[in-house]
Amino acid sequence: MTGTERTLTGIGVGRGIVVGDVRRMPDPLPEPAHTPSTISSEAELARADAALKATAHDLRDRGERAGGIAQEVLNALALMADDPMLRDDVKSRVERGLTAERSVFEAFAGFAQVLESAGGYMAERAGDLGDVANRVIAHILGVSAPGVPESDTPFILVARDLAPADTALLDFDIVRALVTTDGGPTSHTAILAREKGLPAIVGAKSAKDLVDGDVILVDAAEGEIVLHPSAARIDAALAESEARRVSRENASGPGQMADGHKVALLANVGSPKSVDAAVAALAEGVGLFRTEFLFLDAETAPTIETQQAEYAAVFERFPGQKVVVRVLDAGADKPLPFLTDAGEANPALGRRGIRALFAHRDILRDQLTAIANAARMATADVWVMAPMISTADETAEFVGLCHELGIKNAGAMVETPSSAILADHILAEADFVSIGTNDLTQYTVAADRLLGTVADLQDPWNPAVLRLISEVGKAGQATGKPVGVCGEAAADPMLAVVLIGLGMTSLSMSPIALADVRAELSRFTLGEARKLAERALSARNAVDAKRAVSTALSITH
Ligand code: PEP
Ligand code: MG
Repeated sequence: MTGTERTLTGIGVGRGIVVGDVRRMPDPLPEPAHTPSTISSEAELARADAALKATAHDLRDRGERAGGIAQEVLNALALMADDPMLRDDVKSRVERGLTAERSVFEAFAGFAQVLESAGGYMAERAGDLGDVANRVIAHILGVSAPGVPESDTPFILVARDLAPADTALLDFDIVRALVTTDGGPTSHTAILAREKGLPAIVGAKSAKDLVDGDVILVDAAEGEIVLHPSAARIDAALAESEARRVSRENASGPGQMADGHKVALLANVGSPKSVDAAVAALAEGVGLFRTEFLFLDAETAPTIETQQAEYAAVFERFPGQKVVVRVLDAGADKPLPFLTDAGEANPALGRRGIRALFAHRDILRDQLTAIANAARMATADVWVMAPMISTADETAEFVGLCHELGIKNAGAMVETPSSAILADHILAEADFVSIGTNDLTQYTVAADRLLGTVADLQDPWNPAVLRLISEVGKAGQATGKPVGVCGEAAADPMLAVVLIGLGMTSLSMSPIALADVRAELSRFTLGEARKLAERALSARNAVDAKRAVSTALSITH
């Protein structure tokens, strides 16, 4: 171990502690300059051809080693590097005097634009084309190819952020933890890490100085990266990790606090895979069924029959248990071609969620009918809620329609500051509410949840967010109606305790987080949770709120 110990901070995802060597993912290549070539066009074309060939070969080679779905993905990318039309396009640009790298960049970008304008599945392939272009350009320039470094020995991956194409091919036996300088708790990297139970620290700006071979300790629960950790530090961290594992294994059964106070621990599901994970993690039901995930590729609205079959398949996995179905949340980060206005300048503030459904009432009615039909044939206790509610009037209209179609429990998601502030009026109309802390945080701090440059603001520990949640908790207590959280905040064990202290009656999260949250809740009484919540509410900012709670915990437990 060389160098003095130094601690870097970021936003932790998960609870794991890992020690390992850093491998950096090369930063994306800058756009090649539009300067004329200084060598012959034949020589430029030879550079381009060699790089195209080498890239296709590399991709196939990696595919062969990876096998399975990864091989299919990589072979499809190799075909792009081999494409004769693209090669002709590169050739014509080289003949007009451009460099090989600029010609590849322009040819691939032009083709990507064509795919993008075709929409749907084709548009998704545009990103892959950019990835292949970068690999070819890296070959031409003789620099490291972008993407996850290859290695036979385990390492901790440090990157600016990960693109979906990078994460699809991650080998979790080799990549032991993730550290990103950009991205927030709702970034693609964070969602993947949470899903896979991989410790991660995102938005760790000072990690930009880490270099290949640095030894680091990643403590996701603390949001800390220790550079050059001492032997004593490593021993203490591994002992803590073992203690967490034991407490996780000892906590079983329904969610319950130390004084016996019950907290329903539910799962967030979307894909059939996540349903399997929820069942395996002993979820007490589903607190958020993201139905739009089933129809992301659909060009037209799915029929009642198609939907009914999809919903029935999920309901039957939770016999006798609660399943809260969210009607389609189209727009912003989840565009659906048949519901979303593509031309909006500001989709997060546009006609999304319930607003889009009210603008397409036939689609809303069909979906509610499909849910009601499937629920009638299932033993699951099916509840329905609407995303992006901002007013009591919207709530009344949605709940009225659900009741008319035979759905008994109809609720609103609290994802906007307005619905949190008006929670008493919203709960007067709804049978329950569920707080979507991902969106509630983005709208409270006015920071796009997908934008890495403002990721540090996207923290649900922000006392402004907690005060809004507290308003909802008070309204829940006053009306005696259920008040849950189904955003990522519920997956943070320490924050989960605070949320219960703020009056929440259930928590719903990625299945992988259930065991840790169950274990953490069992350590506190409701009274203790309320005191911790008070501390967080009066803090000046998110970091202070988290620190105030963790300091109180280390003194009392
Ligand atoms: C949320 O916004 O917190 C939420 C649960 O919904 P989604 O993440 O699907 O927008
Ligand atoms: Mg949301």
